[in-house]
Amino acid sequence: MKTIGLIGGMSWESTAHYYAIINRETAQRRGGLHSAPILLHSVDFAPIEALQRQGAWAEAGEHLAGIARRLQGAGAGLIGLCTNTMHLCAPTIVSALSVPFIHIADPTADALLADGLTTVGLLGTRFTMEQSFYADRLRARGLTVLTPDVGITNLDGIIYAELCRGIVTEPSRQIYVEAIARLKARGAEAVILGCTEIGMLIDDSVSPLPTYDTTALHAVALVDAALRHEL
Ligand code: GLU
Repeated sequence: MKTIGLIGGMSWESTAHYYAIINRETAQRRGGLHSAPILLHSVDFAPIEALQRQGAWAEAGEHLAGIARRLQGAGAGLIGLCTNTMHLCAPTIVSALSVPFIHIADPTADALLADGLTTVGLLGTRFTMEQSFYADRLRARGLTVLTPDVGITNLDGIIYAELCRGIVTEPSRQIYVEAIARLKARGAEAVILGCTEIGMLIDDSVSPLPTYDTTALHAVALVDAALRHEL
């Protein structure tokens, strides 16, 4: 199994889920005491979030590309970036690497298409919902992507003020449930939890639409890719 290089810490709350899912999935597939060989570089999120607010994506991308290169140099056979938002910088990271970069939107699109879905709602940070880098990658696969028509500031605020700090509240859950209900009323057949912390708040038991959790889909895709070739 290849060593999985993770760029995490954005936030560490969701990276902890990646770590657990990757190891559980590996144990389930390989049996016994097998766990995943992982190199994790967990960043300090505060300066990254400041760069996001300033729109300094080039600087953020160079920083993450440097980390990716170091993980590759340390023996990672593939790289995963444990946040949807920072995939805005994916082209810069990919150009720094010779090992595969597993883009979080790809296993998400694979899962939706495998289930025969064509119209999906996308929830995430304001960057993921308002900019085109994420939805366009899904659209390139033939999916119709709907983002919320109201309440983006609230949905985004809950991620940074609460979920990234490990705070999960019922009023915030209701705000997300209402946003999903509105997407459903506009024709969405499913909802992408397109921020790696939303799974802490929303799952199929409370969502008006079937959920596609990018954290779980991406983590499993990383295991798939790592098992594709023995090192
Ligand atoms: N983890 C989040 C995401 O998947 C938000 C934090 C960040 O801005 O990186 O987009």
